[in-house]
Amino acid sequence: MPARFRSTFFGDLDVDVTFDAAIGTMTHFVVGGQADALVRPRSADALSILLRRCHDSKVPCRVLGNGANLLVDDIGVDGIVIKLDHECFKQTRYHKTDRGDALHAMAGADMATTLMETVRHGLEGLTAMAGIPASFGGAIRMNAGGKFGCISDSLETVTCLSSTGELITHEKNSIRFNYRESRIAEPIILSSTFALKECDPIAIRNKVKEIFSWKKSCQPLSDSSAGCAFKNPLLPDGTRMSAGKLIDNAGLKGFSVGGASISNQHANFIITSANATARNVIDLMQTVRERVEDKTQVHLQNEVVIWSRDHEVVR
Ligand SMILES: Cc1cc2nc3c(=O)[nH]c(=O)nc-3n(C[C@H](O)[C@H](O)[C@H](O)COP(=O)(O)OP(=O)(O)OC[C@H]3O[C@@H](n4cnc5c(N)ncnc54)[C@H](O)[C@@H]3O)c2cc1C
Repeated sequence: MPARFRSTFFGDLDVDVTFDAAIGTMTHFVVGGQADALVRPRSADALSILLRRCHDSKVPCRVLGNGANLLVDDIGVDGIVIKLDHECFKQTRYHKTDRGDALHAMAGADMATTLMETVRHGLEGLTAMAGIPASFGGAIRMNAGGKFGCISDSLETVTCLSSTGELITHEKNSIRFNYRESRIAEPIILSSTFALKECDPIAIRNKVKEIFSWKKSCQPLSDSSAGCAFKNPLLPDGTRMSAGKLIDNAGLKGFSVGGASISNQHANFIITSANATARNVIDLMQTVRERVEDKTQVHLQNEVVIWSRDHEVVR
């Protein structure tokens, strides 16, 4: 971010700003560098004005959710990183519609907390999100999910802010959701609504427990990681093969670069130790991609989102 902007850019906005903010340590990998500015808006209006200002001044801006699917390069990122962690962006509200129960969740609301809230209320709809660390914004952007379903299953609407700060609401059927991605043109997801179904709270609790235990049995949940590093590649018949199996078959379980290693429990999880750098993760991902491609001719695509000033590393 040009130095001349620093003093004047945020002055009249209702936001908290930290310059040269360590954002890498805010991710689940706990590695990586700084953002020129980390900005925490205190209202949706302030966020809207901020976006417009970035657009007009050509200042790049990104949004950080819970950092559970993100790698920040050691050299950091240019421009501003927005964090929606003011109370106003974390609220959830339950209401009745003519079709049943509904949830309105702001983008910064925590998925795990809200999932447990729905369980207590005996409301089904977010169960597939058990064991997936996320904010609602990050979960919708990534169309988070797995073998039990995905976030878009019970989604009804998504309200976004455009790069010029306008509010736009999309019905679910106007959004293209693909495997681990949603095609939403706007840079910021502000809030979303979900259709929930009344269910026996004990039955939902048991389902959530079952999903948790399944995940615990096959994923290194207590290590620092961003979940699956690579997407499961698509086969010509439309099904997907396990990237973890391909990595395992290439003999890479336990393989490491510096402080980043392939989990022995699940080969698609890259885990970081206290001495890891983001470059260790990037180099390890490159080695995995090359070894799997050499052995199987299958190209692995990143599931992890990588932010860097160096656009070469962002695949
Ligand atoms: C232990 C572990 C297990 C996991 N298991 C799964 C799994 O089973 N299934 C699965 O799908 N994922 C899994 N993940 C990955 C991760 O939990 C999901 O991708 C999650 O949706 C990331 O949400 P987040 O808020 O942390 O987003 P972040 O990681 O902060 O960001 C991810 C992307 O979303 C964008 N984004 C965030 N908030 C917004 C917003 N408000 N508006 C617009 N864009 C936004 C970011 O800019 C970035 O591009 C796992 C991760 C871990 C650490």
